[in-house]
Amino acid sequence: RWSRVKGRLRTSVGEDVYTSWFARMDLEGVQDESVHLSVPTRFLKSWIQAHYADRVLTCWQAEMPEVHRIDLTVRTAMRSAAPAKEQTAPADQRRIEQTNGRPAPELRATATAPVSASHDALGGSPLDPRLTFASFVIGRSNTLAHAAARQVAEGRRGDPVMFNPLYIHAGVGLGKTHLLQAVTWAGNSGSERKVLYLTAEKFMYGFVAALKTQTALAFKEALRGIDVLVIDDLQFLQGKSTQAEFCHTLNALIDAGRQVVIAADRPPSDLESLDDRVRSRLAGGLVVEMGSLGEELRLGILKSRVAAARAHHASFDVPEAVLDYLARTITHNGRDLEGAINRLLAHSKLNAQPVTLEMAEREVRDLIRPQEPKRIKIEDIQRVVARQYNVSRSDLLSSRRTANVVRPRQVAMYLAKTLTLRSLPEIGRRFGGRDHTTVLHAVRKIEALVARDIALSEEVESLKRQLQE
Ligand code: ADP
Ligand code: MG
Repeated sequence: RWSRVKGRLRTSVGEDVYTSWFARMDLEGVQDESVHLSVPTRFLKSWIQAHYADRVLTCWQAEMPEVHRIDLTVRTAMRSAAPAKEQTAPADQRRIEQTNGRPAPELRATATAPVSASHDALGGSPLDPRLTFASFVIGRSNTLAHAAARQVAEGRRGDPVMFNPLYIHAGVGLGKTHLLQAVTWAGNSGSERKVLYLTAEKFMYGFVAALKTQTALAFKEALRGIDVLVIDDLQFLQGKSTQAEFCHTLNALIDAGRQVVIAADRPPSDLESLDDRVRSRLAGGLVVEMGSLGEELRLGILKSRVAAARAHHASFDVPEAVLDYLARTITHNGRDLEGAINRLLAHSKLNAQPVTLEMAEREVRDLIRPQEPKRIKIEDIQRVVARQYNVSRSDLLSSRRTANVVRPRQVAMYLAKTLTLRSLPEIGRRFGGRDHTTVLHAVRKIEALVARDIALSEEVESLKRQLQE
């Protein structure tokens, strides 16, 4: 069960966060409602408590609903000095459990161990040698992002910087990390520039560790000597002091004409925990969204994956019909496409069988999921509501208080609260800088009205349908 909880945690926070903070967390015991966990240092303990306490609890509750408390303690020196079993033996096993449909390690196509690029003072995050421009497939949803990334990668030291920062956002598995690592590989091989790829977690970890060892100054200077700073998964940047540091670094680099490239799962305006100054700086460069993968692009990605696998397993072949089938049915994201090819590879290798449509149908059944509900944007809500009530979007954001705009505005805020994950203050901000209590009032008002006014209730339902289509 402990390994399942760890698996959940890993999925929930991502590989990089997991290795940074949780890899050395051990289970000491479970008693009634509380789970006792330990970590080797006080620092880890307070960091996990401050940032991940809820997450850890949720992961436990998913396995054991009766758990209501997590006790985290610091292991004594003696125990942590002898980590042997937990640390080494199960690690591989865990990897296999966690590879989510990827073949066993010896079959991983070109999956050489991740290598780090050469940044000594500042360890960058590991780079995957497969994630290059050569293997990146261009389609309608990523043309612009790709072109911008290429442009950035091909720049030379001293060139004028065209878009700074370049900010790419997209949902999970749509190619952000691929594109960022491609920029890093290309930048590091072609020119004399120093390109550093860091996940936001790694940035935090580096900064906090530097503070602890009183080398923060060296850390900052090393960062400012970078020509191209590439930051992945910015949505994970947490904590006031790290954000302030990130802000300084960003400003220093941009002002010095260095390039910054950022990826996140949402646009700058939706990075709620960042302060306004960082947000506006982020939005001041080029912001590009990568949309969902179209069928043609999915087919392209599948083909590129097969080609990569064939470099090492020459007999591996996937018939056109199977590729078409996969491209049509696995609509979710690039990770599942990769997983599907890896499974077919594993299966055909292990059983020495050619890939057939029937085999594909069986092997990838669980990767075919119903379309995720669409992520609804506040702007869309405002647009649809404005149209419905025949007012303008700026009326909704204005301070006008006439009845014909007050009600639509309240409906729009109510929909924003119920259809998105945005917080009340964030919604207030997006409605012309209103206070969160105003939003709360609107939400309650509409909730009350919907309960007794059938006409309004139907109107609201119809708006929801329009937005979800
Ligand atoms: P994200 O960082 O946005 O979650 P990744 O960059 O990790 O997504 O992509 C997930 C998988 O899909 C990776 O295997 C990646 O190589 C593949 N992928 C996504 N988009 C493309 C693309 N345009 N061309 C080739 N592979 C892609
Ligand atoms: Mg990623």
